[in-house]
Amino acid sequence: MRIAEIHIYRHGLPVHNGPYKMSHSEVRFLSTTLVKLVADNGLVGWGETCPVGPTYAESHPAGAVAALSEMAPGLSGAEVLPVPLHRRMDGLLNGHNYAKAAIDIAAHDLLGKHLGVSVSDLLGGAMTDRVPSYYSTIVGPPDETARVAAEKRAEGYPRLQVKIGGRPVEEDIETIRKVWEVTRGSGVRLAVDGNRSLTTRDALRLSRECPDVPFVMEQPCNTIEDLQKIRSQVSHGIYMDENGTSLNTAITAAGTGLVDGFSMKVTRIGGLHPMRAFRDICAARNLPHTCDDSWGGDIIAAACTHIGATVAPELFEGVWLAAPHIEGHYDQENGIRIEGGHIKRPQGPGLGITPDEGLFGTPVASF
Ligand SMILES: [Mg+2]
Repeated sequence: MRIAEIHIYRHGLPVHNGPYKMSHSEVRFLSTTLVKLVADNGLVGWGETCPVGPTYAESHPAGAVAALSEMAPGLSGAEVLPVPLHRRMDGLLNGHNYAKAAIDIAAHDLLGKHLGVSVSDLLGGAMTDRVPSYYSTIVGPPDETARVAAEKRAEGYPRLQVKIGGRPVEEDIETIRKVWEVTRGSGVRLAVDGNRSLTTRDALRLSRECPDVPFVMEQPCNTIEDLQKIRSQVSHGIYMDENGTSLNTAITAAGTGLVDGFSMKVTRIGGLHPMRAFRDICAARNLPHTCDDSWGGDIIAAACTHIGATVAPELFEGVWLAAPHIEGHYDQENGIRIEGGHIKRPQGPGLGITPDEGLFGTPVASF
Protein backbone atom coordinates (compact mmCIF):
# COMPACT_ATOMS: atom_id res chain seq x y z
CA MET A 1 0.00 0.00 0.00
CA ARG A 2 1.45 3.33 -1.10
CA ILE A 3 0.53 6.99 -0.74
CA ALA A 4 -1.39 8.24 -3.79
CA GLU A 5 -2.73 11.62 -2.59
CA ILE A 6 -2.03 14.00 0.29
CA HIS A 7 -4.53 16.72 1.25
CA ILE A 8 -3.87 19.35 3.91
CA TYR A 9 -6.69 21.21 5.67
CA ARG A 10 -6.83 23.96 8.26
CA HIS A 11 -9.70 24.05 10.70
CA GLY A 12 -10.64 26.48 13.48
CA LEU A 13 -11.15 25.27 17.05
CA PRO A 14 -12.49 28.12 19.23
CA VAL A 15 -11.83 27.60 22.95
CA HIS A 16 -15.17 26.85 24.61
CA ASN A 17 -15.58 29.00 27.77
CA GLY A 18 -12.09 30.40 27.10
CA PRO A 19 -9.52 31.62 27.41
CA TYR A 20 -7.30 28.66 28.27
CA LYS A 21 -4.68 30.30 30.45
CA MET A 22 -1.14 29.02 31.00
CA SER A 23 1.80 30.73 32.66
CA HIS A 24 3.11 32.38 29.49
CA SER A 25 0.02 32.70 27.35
CA GLU A 26 -3.70 32.49 27.01
CA VAL A 27 -5.46 31.14 23.96
CA ARG A 28 -8.99 31.75 22.69
CA PHE A 29 -8.84 30.20 19.23
CA LEU A 30 -6.68 27.40 17.88
CA SER A 31 -6.02 26.54 14.28
CA THR A 32 -5.55 22.83 13.71
CA THR A 33 -3.92 21.21 10.69
CA LEU A 34 -5.39 18.01 9.26
CA VAL A 35 -3.86 15.58 6.82
CA LYS A 36 -5.82 13.18 4.63
CA LEU A 37 -3.75 10.44 3.03
CA VAL A 38 -5.34 8.52 0.19
CA ALA A 39 -3.67 5.20 -0.59
CA ASP A 40 -3.31 3.55 -3.99
CA ASN A 41 -5.98 1.02 -2.92
CA GLY A 42 -8.50 3.80 -2.22
CA LEU A 43 -8.31 3.65 1.59
CA VAL A 44 -8.18 6.96 3.49
CA GLY A 45 -6.24 7.81 6.67
CA TRP A 46 -6.41 10.95 8.81
CA GLY A 47 -3.76 12.78 10.84
CA GLU A 48 -3.75 16.01 12.84
CA THR A 49 -1.37 18.41 14.57
CA CYS A 50 -2.42 21.46 16.61
CA PRO A 51 0.08 23.57 18.56
CA VAL A 52 -1.57 25.32 21.52
CA GLY A 53 -0.67 28.78 20.23
CA PRO A 54 2.67 29.93 18.83
CA THR A 55 4.59 30.27 22.12
CA TYR A 56 3.97 26.97 23.94
CA ALA A 57 6.56 25.14 21.86
CA GLU A 58 8.68 25.74 18.78
CA SER A 59 5.70 25.11 16.55
CA HIS A 60 2.86 27.07 15.00
CA PRO A 61 -0.02 26.30 12.62
CA ALA A 62 1.40 28.05 9.56
CA GLY A 63 4.65 26.17 10.18
CA ALA A 64 2.81 22.85 10.14
CA VAL A 65 1.24 23.61 6.75
CA ALA A 66 4.59 24.82 5.35
CA ALA A 67 6.50 21.76 6.59
CA LEU A 68 3.84 19.37 5.27
CA SER A 69 3.87 21.16 1.90
CA GLU A 70 7.65 20.87 1.79
CA MET A 71 7.53 17.09 2.33
CA ALA A 72 4.34 16.17 0.47
CA PRO A 73 5.66 16.01 -3.15
CA GLY A 74 8.45 13.66 -1.99
CA LEU A 75 6.01 11.38 -0.18
CA SER A 76 4.00 10.50 -3.27
CA GLY A 77 4.37 6.75 -3.83
CA ALA A 78 5.90 6.18 -0.37
CA GLU A 79 5.11 2.88 1.31
CA VAL A 80 2.61 3.22 4.18
CA LEU A 81 4.81 1.57 6.81
CA PRO A 82 6.20 3.56 9.74
CA VAL A 83 9.93 2.79 9.39
CA PRO A 84 10.39 3.57 5.68
CA LEU A 85 7.96 6.48 5.95
CA HIS A 86 9.87 8.17 8.80
CA ARG A 87 13.18 7.63 7.00
CA ARG A 88 11.70 9.19 3.89
CA MET A 89 10.33 12.19 5.85
CA ASP A 90 13.70 12.68 7.56
CA GLY A 91 15.34 12.67 4.13
CA LEU A 92 13.00 15.42 2.97
CA LEU A 93 13.03 17.77 5.98
CA ASN A 94 15.20 18.15 9.06
CA GLY A 95 13.28 18.37 12.35
CA HIS A 96 9.66 19.62 12.38
CA ASN A 97 8.49 16.58 14.31
CA TYR A 98 5.09 18.13 14.92
CA ALA A 99 4.34 18.21 11.18
CA LYS A 100 5.75 14.73 10.55
CA ALA A 101 3.46 13.47 13.32
CA ALA A 102 0.34 14.31 11.27
CA ILE A 103 1.61 12.09 8.42
CA ASP A 104 2.61 9.39 10.92
CA ILE A 105 -0.85 9.35 12.52
CA ALA A 106 -2.60 9.22 9.14
CA ALA A 107 -0.30 6.34 8.11
CA HIS A 108 -1.21 4.39 11.26
CA ASP A 109 -4.90 5.02 10.54
CA LEU A 110 -4.43 3.73 6.98
CA LEU A 111 -2.40 0.72 8.04
CA GLY A 112 -4.93 -0.26 10.69
CA LYS A 113 -7.77 -0.04 8.17
CA HIS A 114 -5.74 -2.03 5.63
CA LEU A 115 -5.02 -4.82 8.13
CA GLY A 116 -8.40 -4.63 9.88
CA VAL A 117 -6.90 -3.85 13.29
CA SER A 118 -7.02 -0.89 15.65
CA VAL A 119 -4.11 1.53 16.01
CA SER A 120 -3.56 0.27 19.57
CA ASP A 121 -3.12 -3.24 18.18
CA LEU A 122 -0.60 -1.89 15.67
CA LEU A 123 1.27 -0.32 18.59
CA GLY A 124 1.57 -3.61 20.41
CA GLY A 125 -1.87 -4.16 21.92
CA ALA A 126 -4.21 -2.40 24.35
CA MET A 127 -4.05 -3.10 28.09
CA THR A 128 -7.47 -1.55 28.66
CA ASP A 129 -10.59 -0.28 26.91
CA ARG A 130 -11.15 2.37 29.62
CA VAL A 131 -8.22 4.73 29.35
CA PRO A 132 -7.60 7.14 32.25
CA SER A 133 -7.57 10.85 31.53
CA TYR A 134 -6.43 13.77 33.65
CA TYR A 135 -7.83 17.26 33.94
CA SER A 136 -5.73 20.40 33.86
CA THR A 137 -6.88 23.52 35.68
CA ILE A 138 -5.91 26.84 34.11
CA VAL A 139 -3.89 29.51 35.91
CA GLY A 140 -6.48 31.31 38.02
CA PRO A 141 -7.43 32.45 41.53
CA PRO A 142 -6.61 29.83 44.21
CA ASP A 143 -10.23 29.41 45.38
CA GLU A 144 -11.55 29.00 41.84
CA THR A 145 -8.85 26.44 41.03
CA ALA A 146 -9.73 24.48 44.17
CA ARG A 147 -13.42 24.59 43.23
CA VAL A 148 -12.67 23.14 39.79
CA ALA A 149 -10.34 20.54 41.33
CA ALA A 150 -13.11 19.37 43.69
CA GLU A 151 -15.57 19.19 40.79
CA LYS A 152 -13.20 17.14 38.62
CA ARG A 153 -12.29 14.85 41.52
CA ALA A 154 -16.03 14.18 41.94
CA GLU A 155 -16.37 13.46 38.22
CA GLY A 156 -13.90 10.60 38.59
CA TYR A 157 -10.63 11.92 37.24
CA PRO A 158 -7.81 9.82 38.73
CA ARG A 159 -5.30 12.66 38.32
CA LEU A 160 -5.34 16.46 38.25
CA GLN A 161 -2.80 18.86 36.87
CA VAL A 162 -2.65 22.30 38.46
CA LYS A 163 -1.27 24.97 36.18
CA ILE A 164 0.83 27.63 37.88
CA GLY A 165 3.28 30.38 37.00
CA GLY A 166 3.37 33.83 35.45
CA ARG A 167 2.52 35.47 38.80
CA PRO A 168 3.97 35.77 42.33
CA VAL A 169 4.98 32.32 43.61
CA GLU A 170 3.02 32.96 46.83
CA GLU A 171 -0.18 32.70 44.80
CA ASP A 172 1.00 29.41 43.28
CA ILE A 173 1.76 28.01 46.73
CA GLU A 174 -1.65 29.09 48.02
CA THR A 175 -3.30 27.45 45.00
CA ILE A 176 -1.50 24.13 45.58
CA ARG A 177 -2.45 24.16 49.28
CA LYS A 178 -6.11 24.83 48.50
CA VAL A 179 -6.23 22.09 45.87
CA TRP A 180 -4.66 19.69 48.38
CA GLU A 181 -7.38 20.57 50.92
CA VAL A 182 -10.05 19.32 48.50
CA THR A 183 -8.18 16.29 47.16
CA ARG A 184 -6.38 14.92 50.25
CA GLY A 185 -7.42 11.36 50.98
CA SER A 186 -9.25 10.95 47.66
CA GLY A 187 -6.45 9.03 45.95
CA VAL A 188 -6.32 11.63 43.16
CA ARG A 189 -2.72 12.14 42.00
CA LEU A 190 -1.48 15.70 41.55
CA ALA A 191 0.89 17.33 39.11
CA VAL A 192 1.88 20.98 39.32
CA ASP A 193 2.75 22.37 35.89
CA GLY A 194 4.80 25.55 35.64
CA ASN A 195 4.99 25.40 31.82
CA ARG A 196 8.67 26.52 31.95
CA SER A 197 7.86 29.75 33.78
CA LEU A 198 9.48 29.49 37.22
CA THR A 199 12.92 30.68 38.15
CA THR A 200 14.94 28.01 39.92
CA ARG A 201 14.64 30.25 43.01
CA ASP A 202 10.85 30.06 42.96
CA ALA A 203 10.77 26.36 42.06
CA LEU A 204 12.93 25.60 45.12
CA ARG A 205 10.74 27.75 47.34
CA LEU A 206 7.55 26.16 46.06
CA SER A 207 8.85 22.67 46.81
CA ARG A 208 10.19 23.66 50.25
CA GLU A 209 6.92 25.30 51.32
CA CYS A 210 4.78 22.31 50.33
CA PRO A 211 6.77 19.37 51.74
CA ASP A 212 3.60 17.56 52.84
CA VAL A 213 1.78 17.77 49.48
CA PRO A 214 2.55 14.78 47.24
CA PHE A 215 2.68 16.37 43.78
CA VAL A 216 5.12 16.01 40.94
CA MET A 217 6.63 19.19 39.50
CA GLU A 218 6.03 19.23 35.77
CA GLN A 219 8.42 21.32 33.70
CA PRO A 220 8.77 23.98 36.42
CA CYS A 221 11.61 25.84 34.68
CA ASN A 222 12.59 26.69 31.13
CA THR A 223 15.69 24.65 30.40
CA ILE A 224 17.28 21.26 31.01
CA GLU A 225 20.09 23.11 32.83
CA ASP A 226 17.52 24.62 35.23
CA LEU A 227 16.10 21.17 35.93
CA GLN A 228 19.61 19.86 36.60
CA LYS A 229 20.18 22.74 39.01
CA ILE A 230 17.12 22.08 41.18
CA ARG A 231 17.11 18.29 40.81
CA SER A 232 19.07 17.43 43.95
CA GLN A 233 17.50 20.20 46.03
CA VAL A 234 13.78 19.39 45.80
CA SER A 235 11.88 16.64 47.55
CA HIS A 236 9.22 16.42 44.86
CA GLY A 237 9.49 14.30 41.74
CA ILE A 238 10.29 16.16 38.52
CA TYR A 239 8.56 15.44 35.21
CA MET A 240 9.76 16.76 31.87
CA ASP A 241 7.29 18.10 29.35
CA GLU A 242 8.32 20.90 26.97
CA ASN A 243 12.06 20.03 27.09
CA GLY A 244 11.30 16.53 25.77
CA THR A 245 11.54 17.61 22.16
CA SER A 246 12.70 14.30 20.68
CA LEU A 247 13.41 10.68 21.44
CA ASN A 248 17.03 11.75 21.92
CA THR A 249 16.30 14.26 24.70
CA ALA A 250 13.94 11.76 26.36
CA ILE A 251 16.62 9.05 26.33
CA THR A 252 19.14 11.42 27.93
CA ALA A 253 16.65 12.61 30.56
CA ALA A 254 15.64 9.04 31.40
CA GLY A 255 19.16 7.63 31.23
CA THR A 256 20.82 10.26 33.39
CA GLY A 257 18.13 10.19 36.06
CA LEU A 258 17.27 13.84 35.44
CA VAL A 259 13.54 13.20 35.75
CA ASP A 260 11.05 10.91 37.49
CA GLY A 261 8.62 10.85 34.59
CA PHE A 262 7.34 12.67 31.55
CA SER A 263 4.38 14.46 30.14
CA MET A 264 4.82 13.48 26.52
CA LYS A 265 3.12 14.90 23.46
CA VAL A 266 2.58 12.59 20.48
CA THR A 267 3.19 15.34 17.93
CA ARG A 268 6.23 16.83 19.68
CA ILE A 269 8.10 13.53 19.52
CA GLY A 270 7.10 13.00 15.88
CA GLY A 271 4.08 10.72 15.96
CA LEU A 272 2.98 7.28 17.13
CA HIS A 273 6.03 5.41 15.85
CA PRO A 274 8.57 7.32 18.01
CA MET A 275 5.98 7.44 20.81
CA ARG A 276 5.98 3.65 20.88
CA ALA A 277 9.77 3.65 21.33
CA PHE A 278 9.43 6.33 24.04
CA ARG A 279 6.85 4.18 25.86
CA ASP A 280 9.24 1.21 25.86
CA ILE A 281 12.22 3.30 27.02
CA CYS A 282 10.12 4.57 29.93
CA ALA A 283 9.06 1.00 30.77
CA ALA A 284 12.71 -0.11 30.81
CA ARG A 285 13.51 2.62 33.36
CA ASN A 286 10.21 2.26 35.27
CA LEU A 287 9.28 5.88 34.53
CA PRO A 288 5.63 7.00 34.50
CA HIS A 289 4.36 9.20 31.70
CA THR A 290 1.33 10.62 29.97
CA CYS A 291 0.39 10.20 26.29
CA ASP A 292 -1.28 13.35 25.08
CA ASP A 293 -0.97 16.40 22.95
CA SER A 294 -1.05 20.15 23.28
CA TRP A 295 -4.43 20.58 21.54
CA GLY A 296 -6.53 19.20 18.69
CA GLY A 297 -9.80 17.49 17.84
CA ASP A 298 -11.01 13.90 17.54
CA ILE A 299 -8.15 12.68 15.35
CA ILE A 300 -5.36 13.62 17.75
CA ALA A 301 -7.56 12.52 20.66
CA ALA A 302 -8.02 9.07 19.11
CA ALA A 303 -4.28 8.75 18.44
CA CYS A 304 -3.42 9.67 22.07
CA THR A 305 -6.04 7.27 23.42
CA HIS A 306 -4.76 4.36 21.32
CA ILE A 307 -1.13 4.75 22.41
CA GLY A 308 -2.24 5.47 25.98
CA ALA A 309 -4.16 2.18 26.06
CA THR A 310 -0.92 0.29 25.38
CA VAL A 311 1.07 1.71 28.32
CA ALA A 312 1.58 -0.47 31.41
CA PRO A 313 -1.24 0.72 33.70
CA GLU A 314 1.06 1.18 36.71
CA LEU A 315 3.21 3.61 34.71
CA PHE A 316 0.41 5.45 32.98
CA GLU A 317 -0.41 9.02 33.99
CA GLY A 318 -3.27 9.42 31.55
CA VAL A 319 -4.38 11.09 28.33
CA TRP A 320 -5.11 14.80 28.43
CA LEU A 321 -7.59 15.87 25.78
CA ALA A 322 -8.70 19.29 24.60
CA ALA A 323 -12.22 17.84 24.24
CA PRO A 324 -13.66 19.60 27.36
CA HIS A 325 -12.64 22.93 25.76
CA ILE A 326 -13.99 22.23 22.27
CA GLU A 327 -17.59 22.28 21.09
CA GLY A 328 -18.64 19.51 18.74
CA HIS A 329 -16.79 16.58 17.19
CA TYR A 330 -15.38 15.63 13.80
CA ASP A 331 -17.23 12.32 14.21
CA GLN A 332 -20.60 12.87 15.89
CA GLU A 333 -21.08 9.21 16.74
CA ASN A 334 -17.61 7.94 17.63
CA GLY A 335 -15.86 11.20 18.59
CA ILE A 336 -13.58 10.91 21.62
CA ARG A 337 -15.28 11.89 24.88
CA ILE A 338 -14.22 11.86 28.53
CA GLU A 339 -16.73 10.24 30.86
CA GLY A 340 -16.07 9.80 34.54
CA GLY A 341 -12.47 10.92 34.01
CA HIS A 342 -11.86 8.09 31.54
CA ILE A 343 -11.96 7.63 27.77
CA LYS A 344 -13.48 4.69 25.96
CA ARG A 345 -10.93 3.25 23.55
CA PRO A 346 -12.28 3.70 20.02
CA GLN A 347 -13.27 0.44 18.39
CA GLY A 348 -12.99 -0.46 14.74
CA PRO A 349 -9.98 -0.52 12.45
CA GLY A 350 -7.40 2.28 12.37
CA LEU A 351 -8.14 5.23 14.65
CA GLY A 352 -11.77 4.07 14.93
CA ILE A 353 -13.26 7.43 14.00
CA THR A 354 -14.55 8.78 10.69
CA PRO A 355 -14.23 12.56 10.43
CA ASP A 356 -16.95 14.45 8.60
CA GLU A 357 -14.63 16.11 6.10
CA GLY A 358 -17.35 18.54 5.10
CA LEU A 359 -16.40 20.38 8.31
CA PHE A 360 -12.92 21.13 7.00
CA GLY A 361 -13.85 22.88 3.73
CA THR A 362 -11.49 22.94 0.78
CA PRO A 363 -7.92 21.69 1.33
CA VAL A 364 -5.30 24.45 1.61
CA ALA A 365 -2.99 22.22 -0.43
CA SER A 366 -3.31 18.94 -2.32
CA PHE A 367 -0.56 16.76 -3.77
MG1 LIG B 1 2.76 20.28 30.77
